[in-house]
Amino acid sequence: MSKWVRVHTADNPPEAVFIRGLLEAEGIPVQLKSMELWTAAVEIYFAEGARPSVWVPRNAVAEAERVLAQRDRSGSGRGWTCGCGEQLEAQFTTCWRCGQGRPEHG
Ligand SMILES: [Zn+2]
Repeated sequence: MSKWVRVHTADNPPEAVFIRGLLEAEGIPVQLKSMELWTAAVEIYFAEGARPSVWVPRNAVAEAERVLAQRDRSGSGRGWTCGCGEQLEAQFTTCWRCGQGRPEHG
């Protein structure tokens, strides 16, 4: 039975799902924790201050950290602020709160 280790704490649900996608693409098993709060109500998730976290088996931690480091390096630049006021990271092209697309900018 494998030990699970937290490799990332996300700022919001889509980020955790994004990270999971990156890791699963490398063949790494992934568990997300605190997801049940988000599906219940995003407002509760914020009120509780619980942050979603991404976990992988202990024997995959090094690989997961390599994948995450690559993601940080390719960095895709700065985050952005939606018209609704939500702060989003660069990898998101759509606001997870209100659904607006990322504005074009020069
Ligand atoms: Zn928005």
